[in-house]
Amino acid sequence: MPGLLNFDGDSLIVLRHNLLAVSPEEGCALLLGEQKDSQEFQGESLWNIRMVWPCCNIWEPEIFGLRELPKEQSKDPLEDLSRKKRFAIDPLEQIHAQRWARKKNIKVLGTAHSHPFGNAEPSLIDLKWSFCESIMVIITGSGDVSGWWLPKNQPSQRLKMAALKS
Ligand SMILES: [Zn+2]
Repeated sequence: MPGLLNFDGDSLIVLRHNLLAVSPEEGCALLLGEQKDSQEFQGESLWNIRMVWPCCNIWEPEIFGLRELPKEQSKDPLEDLSRKKRFAIDPLEQIHAQRWARKKNIKVLGTAHSHPFGNAEPSLIDLKWSFCESIMVIITGSGDVSGWWLPKNQPSQRLKMAALKS
């Protein structure tokens, strides 16, 4: 299924701005748009992001009753578990976004969040807590963007980026 990730118009500029505005904490957002299977891309999916739905990072320890196992935590016992290393999107926000998107004939394609201190790959926790079958965009503190397809019970796969505007 993976394929090509495209940011329409100024959606990437908006996303970067929103996510990095709360640095050093992780910022997060929902990504709205459409997914097409296109011959143009050799049958691969095109994930077209048309709108960024900014969300508050509401993470706190044991949010949603999900407790981290010690082995998932950093090897550094002094690492503070905080919104600098974790994010969570309010499920209500997702419901609002889904309703809104449906009216506009688009879909919630997935989530985006920032790694102010990390790399552009989803962390173990990101994968464990993500919704299945969606895309995940990560923006690093320096503004690098990467997109991932998260299939059910399979490793995440990196999406190719369509012409990136910075
Ligand atoms: Zn993350």
